[in-house]
Parts: sequence; C-alpha cells; structure tokens
Amino acid sequence: MNAESKVTTGHLQRAAYLYIRQSTLRQVMENTESTERQYALRRRAVALGWPDERIVVIDHDQGQSGASTIDREGFQRLVADVGLGKAGIVMGLEVSRLARNCADWHRLLEICALTHCLILDEDGLYDPGHFNDRLLLGLKGAMSEAELHVLKARLVGGVINKAQRGELKMPIPVGLVYQEDQRVVLDPDQQVQQSLRVFFATFERVGSAWATVQTFRREGLKFPKRGQAGSGEIAWQELTHPITLDTLHNPRYAGAFCFGRTRSWKDAEGKYHCQQLPRDQWRFLKQNAHPGYVTWEQFLANQERLLQNQQARGGDRKAGPPREGPALLQGLVLCGKCGRTMTIRYHHRFGRLTPDYVCARNCVEKSEPVCQCIPGGDIDAGVGQLLVQSVTPLALEVALNVQSELQARLAEADRLRQQQVQRAQYEVDRARVRYMRVDPNNRLVADTLEAQWNEKLRLLAQAKEDCEKQHRTDSAQLTDEQKARILALAADFPKLWQDPKTPDRDRKRMARLLLEDVTLQRDQDILVQLRFKGGAIQQLRLPLPKAAWALRKTKPEIVAEIDRLLDTHTEEEVAHILNERGWRSSAGNLFSRPMVHMLRHCYHMKTRFTRLQARGLLTAQQIGPMIGSVTSRVNYWRKVGVLKGMKFGEGNKYLYYKPTETEVDQIHQRRLKRGANAHGAQPSI
Ligand SMILES: [Zn+2]
Repeated sequence: MNAESKVTTGHLQRAAYLYIRQSTLRQVMENTESTERQYALRRRAVALGWPDERIVVIDHDQGQSGASTIDREGFQRLVADVGLGKAGIVMGLEVSRLARNCADWHRLLEICALTHCLILDEDGLYDPGHFNDRLLLGLKGAMSEAELHVLKARLVGGVINKAQRGELKMPIPVGLVYQEDQRVVLDPDQQVQQSLRVFFATFERVGSAWATVQTFRREGLKFPKRGQAGSGEIAWQELTHPITLDTLHNPRYAGAFCFGRTRSWKDAEGKYHCQQLPRDQWRFLKQNAHPGYVTWEQFLANQERLLQNQQARGGDRKAGPPREGPALLQGLVLCGKCGRTMTIRYHHRFGRLTPDYVCARNCVEKSEPVCQCIPGGDIDAGVGQLLVQSVTPLALEVALNVQSELQARLAEADRLRQQQVQRAQYEVDRARVRYMRVDPNNRLVADTLEAQWNEKLRLLAQAKEDCEKQHRTDSAQLTDEQKARILALAADFPKLWQDPKTPDRDRKRMARLLLEDVTLQRDQDILVQLRFKGGAIQQLRLPLPKAAWALRKTKPEIVAEIDRLLDTHTEEEVAHILNERGWRSSAGNLFSRPMVHMLRHCYHMKTRFTRLQARGLLTAQQIGPMIGSVTSRVNYWRKVGVLKGMKFGEGNKYLYYKPTETEVDQIHQRRLKRGANAHGAQPSI
C-alpha cells in the first residue's frame, strides 16, 4: 500500500498536527537544523493534500525532555485533540520520540487507531489501525526508549567510574582549587587559607557553629566566597550560620573526595526532590584524596560535636527571662534523656514553694508518660553551693590570666584584618589603572570605570575604619584597678548569694550569667551536669530525695522519749518538755498535745490512763464508795490535799491512789466539823 492510498477524504477533512520539540534548551538554541527538518514535514503534509490553514503546529514543549508526559502541555493537548477526533494525521520527526516512554507512546497509538488518525515521520506514513504499521510503530517506540536508557547508562556509568577513582571533577568549596593537572590543592591565596584555618580553629575552641559566627562578627573577620562563576575571583562576606554549617559538614575540607551525598527523585507530579544521605550511605568516599584544612579525625569530631549541640538544644529551646519563682535553674534545665527543655512545676512542701523539674513534652503533646520528673530543692541547693565555690578569688585570677593570653592571640586576628585592608588597597589600585587606560573619549566606559573606582575607594575606607575600630577595642587592656574590682567581686558574691534578702529573681540572673545550661538525669541517683559560660563542665551527683512520707517520719529517738515521758507526764506536758529541750517535728514545727496524742496512737504506745491504772491507781467512781461520798466530790478531797492523785488528761482528769485508813478518817472528821459549823444543817456530801 503506498502512502497516498492510506490518506482518505475522511483524514483530509480533519486537521494535521505537527508536533515540534527539542528536549533541552541547549538543543533549541544550537540544533536549529533539526527544527528546520521538523518544519519541512509541514510541506509533506501539504503535498499529501492538507490545506495549509488546516495544519496545526504544536511547539509548546520546546526545551522539555520527552522522558515523561508530565509538564509537557503540548503533548497533552495533542493526545486530547487526537482523542476528540480532531486530528487526521500526526506528524513529527522520528515520531517515536514524541514520547520517550513506552506507556505514553502506546496510549497515543491506541487512540490514533480508535480515531483513525495517521502518523507521519521522515521514514514514511503509518496507519495505526493496520496491524503491520502498528507493530512497526510499537517497535520504534521500544527502540527509542531503549536508546534513551543506553544513552543515560553510558553517561552515568562514565561519571560513576570517574567518581570511583576519585577523579571526577566536581565543584569544590572555596579554599580549594583545581590545578592545571586537575589535582585539588589549597588555594594559593594566603588570606583565604588563613581565614579557613582561623575558622576551623575557632570552632575547635568555642565548640558551636553559632559561637563561631559570633566570634567572627565580633572580631570583624570576613569569610571568603567565590565571586562570579568562572571569574575565579574571591569575594569577602560576613560569616553566617548556614555557611558555617556547610563548611563544617563538607568533607572536602578534610581532604576527602565524596560522591553521592544526596539522593534525588521525581515524584508523580514531576517535582524534583533532593534528600541528604547519612555518611554510611554515601556512594563513594575516598579519604586523603587531596590536601585539606582539617584531618579526617577532626572532621568526624566536628560532626559529632554538631550533633551533640543539636541534641542539647532540642527542638524548642526557649530560655525565657528569669521569673519570680524560686526555681534557680528556670530556663536552663535540659532533660538528660531526650534533650528537650524541662519545665517547672511548683508545689508547697512544709510551707515553702519547692520546684520540680519536669520533662513533660511527651505528656502534653502525645499524652505519653512524663519523660522524667525530678524534685528540684536539693538540686538548686547543690548548684548554688557549687556556684559559690566556683566564684573564688583563685578562679577569677586564673580567668584574668587566660584573658591576657587571649589578648596575645588577638594579634593574629589583627594581621588578618590588615590583609583585608591590603586587598582593598589592591582593588583600588587596579580600578584606578583600568580607569587610566581607557580612552577618555569613550565616555560610557570611562564613567562606569570611574564609578567602580569610587566604589572601591569607599570599600577601602570602610575596611580601614573597621580595622582601626576593632584594633582599638582589642587593645583595651584591663587596668590594675579594674582587676582589683573584679577580684573584690569574688568576695562579695557568696555574701550576696546567701543573703536571704536577695530576691530569687536576682539569684537566677546570677546563675544565668555563670551557666550556659544544666542537664538533669534521674537514675539510681540524680546526675547534674553544668555547662558554664565559656565551656567548662562540672558534674554533681545527688542522692534521690526521700519520698514525702519518709521525710515526715518522726525520728525513733523522739518516739522512745515520748514513751518514757508518758510514764510521768500527761501528753500536754510531754509536748511542752520536748519543746523546752529544743526538739522539733520532722517538718520543723513545735510539738503540741494533738501531735503527741497522734504519735502515741500511731506507735501503739500505752495511754497514760492504762499506765496509771497498772500502777494501782483508781478512778473517782471506784474511790467514791470507799470514802462514802459521791463521785463528783472525790476531786474536791484531792484539791484540799486529803487524797493523792495523778493527772492523766486535760482538766480534772485524775486517777487516785487508794485512800489509807487515816485519810478516810480525816475525811469523816472534816465532814463532821463542817456539819457542826452549819448548825445541824445536812451537809451536802
Ligand atoms: Zn525528656
């Protein structure tokens, strides 16, 4: 069947679709011949009988890869129009490349067959409705996909082979450069080298990325960065936190070649995703591949340090301002188990407000059990004592000595800043020379160069001023008088700390001036790790505090004494005696009758009553008949001194010794006498 016989009037009534595409923008720019060939197909369509105005050109997808239909608006429109039966023929250069993906391609063929749409490329005209044509087109599609795969495999394979040998040329960070023989060496620019060395030394000293940034800013140091791509020039910028982290995480600075530190993929919507991989999943890592600024061991130590910092900070570290409550470590405590900030819970204990340090994040967010809860009273006391011990004249003396040593190190930083000024001077000179060389008649160029020269002059002035200012601050040494005042502080500190009139908030402020953070961990005992400002670390181990009941338990010697005293005294008297002796309850209170009563009851001691009874003393009811009188008068005879008794409770609670015969007689005598006095009136007894 020849080409013309496949084209029917039905086809010609519909439109012809010319699909034009170049996979990459570069091809669009450079490979114009291919575009020409694609437009030449248009002429073939005219030859086959399509009128010029019914030829639709789809060229939205220039610069889009054919590996998938996503984002290829043009291809999607083509498929839609073919499906709606608008297309009589679809044209493309090597049509199989319409879709470099078999699934897309077969779907297009299927739709073309259903809507009786023809397909045309440089090799010929096909009718997907015919089995042979369909087979051929299917094969072409498969070949095209395979071609793409082989192409990719070759390219990637080459890259991977080179990477495996550590020879792949990859962008390298500032401070390292490629030599002519493609070997990586340290940047020959001494200022750049020096900056990176100072950078790594600073991190080593201060131990955190943030503190490194602060140090650089404080000392007015700049960090190098590559200028415009390909120019090879170095620009100087302020050090920032992201740059610091990038630099510390980059293994190239440790002289290691690495490849495949990230994984990237395209999702169903055609979006690119990139993910950092952990070190053990990097594709290639070759240590000692080239010179570096730190050793591999140092690099690993830095990584470890950064990780620890991250854990110590936790996700949500917020040290709010000191508040009124007595918890000394408010805003400073971190949980030793999970690294989160611990919060404070106050409660009353023995009439005072005492803090508990609680890691309750899990509890609040996920209603899981509290991570750990540690009573804070002892911790605050321990930390306070440690602070008082730390701020001693000796410790301050050492600190002042270190300070003067640091002063010596500042000279190094000063030299770096001088270099910055020198470089600025050099830039000015160069700009001046460029301006001088230009033809003064060429106003446009001369003006631009003059502006550049002015700008460089401004930068030079700025660099000079910065350098001067920093130099003045650095060289401000402590005078002897200032030193003496600092040393005097050491003597005042314990006094101020222990003074009960010092408000809690001020004590907290002092703690914050000295401490960076405090990590608490509860195990067999409580481990308190204090990180002082400046990096010093101290550790305290405190016993677990006793439970509330154990704290309130009365000492056994007090119980024994109460037991002994009850033989001879009432409960009220016992309380009085204990207080006289200066003894106090475990809660620090004075003893009272109810307390002694309660203790006697709890410890199953005999009552005073039983004790007296055991010694043969009798109740008023028992005594009454013996003396021939009513019960209520028995106490009267004790009061007037005839009967003897012992007190066992409040008021008139007495037990009585058995009256002797003499005593009974006495009572009778006195009763008779009183009867006579009352002129025969019946005595009331
Ligand atoms: Zn925790």
